[in-house]
Parts: sequence; C-alpha cells; structure tokens
Amino acid sequence: MEDRKRAEDALRESEYRLRQIIETVPGLLWSLAPDGEPTYFNQRFLDYFGKPFEDFKHGGWLALIHPDDVPETERTFSHAIQTGSSYQGVLRFRRADGEYRWHEGRGEPLRDRQGNIVQWYGLSVDIDEAKKAEDRLRRSESYLAEAQLELAHANRVATMGQLTASITHEVNQPITAAVTYALAARRFLSAKPPNFREVDEALSLIVKEGNRAGEVVGRVRALIKKAPARKDAVEINDAILEVIALTRREAANNSVSVRTQLAEGLPRVQGDRVQLQQVLLNLIINAIEAMREIDEEERELLIGTRNEPEGVSVEVRDSGPGFASAALERAFEAFYTTKSDGLGLGLSICRSIIEAHNGRLWASPNVPRGAIFRFTMLPHSAAAP
Ligand code: ADP
Repeated sequence: MEDRKRAEDALRESEYRLRQIIETVPGLLWSLAPDGEPTYFNQRFLDYFGKPFEDFKHGGWLALIHPDDVPETERTFSHAIQTGSSYQGVLRFRRADGEYRWHEGRGEPLRDRQGNIVQWYGLSVDIDEAKKAEDRLRRSESYLAEAQLELAHANRVATMGQLTASITHEVNQPITAAVTYALAARRFLSAKPPNFREVDEALSLIVKEGNRAGEVVGRVRALIKKAPARKDAVEINDAILEVIALTRREAANNSVSVRTQLAEGLPRVQGDRVQLQQVLLNLIINAIEAMREIDEEERELLIGTRNEPEGVSVEVRDSGPGFASAALERAFEAFYTTKSDGLGLGLSICRSIIEAHNGRLWASPNVPRGAIFRFTMLPHSAAAP
C-alpha cells in the first residue's frame, strides 16, 4: 500500500515536471492527430496568439497565417500529413497584438511498433528578428553591389574623360608638328628650283611624327593591359543581370527591348568582376547606340550565356545596322569610331580586358541583321594560375 502510494506520488511528480517543461520551454509546442487535427497546444502557444484551443481546431489555425504564406503552408503541411514525412516551414503568424511575425515550424510523426502514426509533435519558433536582420543584410549587400557597379561606370567615364584629354594632348603635338613639316615641304617643292633635299628631310620628319602618334596609341593599350586583373570566381549570370539592371533606363529611353538566355549551372569564371562588367557595359551601350538607327519596334537586345568545351561564352546580339565586313575587324582598332562624339577606344579596351583574362572577344554579323559580340572565359578551376 505504502509502495503503491509512493509510486503514484513519483509518477505525479514526474508528470508535473514534464508538464512544467512543456509549458515553459521557449517555443510554441503543438501536437496533432494523425490526420492533422490539433490535439494539444502548450500554454505559451495559446498566450502567443491570445486565443483558446477551440479556435485552432478544424483548420482554424490557417486564419492566423499571413495570406501570402497560406498556399505554400497548406501545400507543405498536407504533404507531410499525407506522406508521413517531417514537416518544415517558414511562415508569418499573426501574434495576439496583430503583428505578423516570421516563424519556423517543424513537426515529426510519432509511430507505433507497426509503423502507424499515432501523433504528430511539433515546435514553432519566432525567428522574426533574425529573419528581418537577414533581409536587411541582403538588401544592403545588393545595394553595395549596385553602388560598386555605378562606381565602376563612373570610373569608366572618368577614365575615358582623362584618357581623351591626355590622348588629345599627346596626339595633337606630333600632328601639329607633322602639319608644320608638310607646309615646309610644300614651300621647298614650290621653290625655284625645288629643294628636294629639304623636301626629303621634311618628309622623314613627318614619318617620325606619325610614328610618335602611333606610339601614343600603343602606350594607352599597354597601360590597360598592365593593370593586374583580379582572379575572383565570378558568377557570370549574376554579373550580367547587374549590368542589365544598370542599363535598364538607357534601354527604355531608347525603346530597346532586352531579353536574356542565361544557361543554368554554369561554372564560375576566373576574373575581375568589375572589369568583366565594364566589358558588358560597353557592349550593351554600343548595341543600344547602334540601334538608334533603326525603327523603334525592331530594337532588340539579346544577352545569352552558354557552357562550351572551351569555357563559358557570353554573347550580346542586337538588331541594329550591323557592319560592313571590312568594318568588322576595324571596330576593334583603337580610335576607330563612326560616332561624332565617339572615342573609338571602347572595343579595343574590351578586347584587352578579355585577352588579359586568357579569353577571346570577337564580332560577327547577326541574322537577319545586326551585330553579335561574343567572348569566352575560362572556368575558375581550369584557368591558368
Ligand atoms: P565608340 O563607341 O567610341 O565609337 P568602340 O570601340 O566601342 O568606340 O566602337 C567602335 C566602332 O565600332 C563604333 O563607332 C561603331 O562604328 C562600331 N560598333 C560597335 N558596336 C557596334 C554594334 N553593336 N553595331 C554596329 N556597330 C558597332
């Protein structure tokens, strides 16, 4: 008799402890019948929502979920109930004070010896603070990436401006000198009798000055090549999408429709992300500028990526006027431009950048018309050190 009473006391005591744990554990605990009907919620759960247990029965709990999260929750929940697999979901619940807060819910089935589910046990944790901090971080990261790209763009414009000024200055000097010698040569030619020795000397000075101007161009290219390229592992599709976002306004202002065909599962490429984005920026702006010449309805820009045996290929296709076959290679020459305000350096710089990455950049005609600019990049692991 004594023993039985002691056993009963011990049982009551352990039941009390267990209940205390269940009620004070910092989480919302629940259990459900095998068909998903609520059987028990801990006090914390009921207090959190400020509702009696009855309100949760017969699917009443769905009314507490943020409308945007209902379809997904219903789907994963009924999948778990039907298949007997663990439940996991992230969703917003409306707290007693009316605020929707992010929760992570998990549930596991308890089975009898035959493997039949007898009960579901689960836990829901308020992860609102963590989730919001994570969202803020993600937003600031994409903001930073955008800022970085704008900086690269501004940098490019500034560099171009500086280059123009110094190039104009450097190229002007030999050209002015050459013109002076040419005028002198004409004078020596029209002298009576003509002084051929002086003419010959003036001509060789003209050749010398011409070569000097050519060297300036060579120096500019060498300068660009010299900058050491970083060797990041670049997700090329991401880098492309960022440049597209940056050029969206430019495209819209020019009535250009932009489409993408980005291959999935591409390996990362080895290179300097910002430099690659500068190349893309150049190709896209060139394409938009070229298409100003054709009807608005026909201005199409297609940017695609592909996984190829020699690496990842990126192409920018436009429906602009394209170019005559002779102009195709000339387009890459430094100072070749057909624009009144063009500098003719964009493509030559692009090619230097891609070649510094051990890749290739070339152009071909598009069908039925327009231009295709394509470059290839080595995958990150296969790239030379
Ligand atoms: P810029 O843009 O200053 O002229 P680039 O080196 O970028 O310098 O381009 C050189 C030339 O190549 C352009 O002036 C143009 O004639 C030609 N070109 C470039 N991209 C295209 C394109 N998408 N379609 C037709 N022609 C192009």
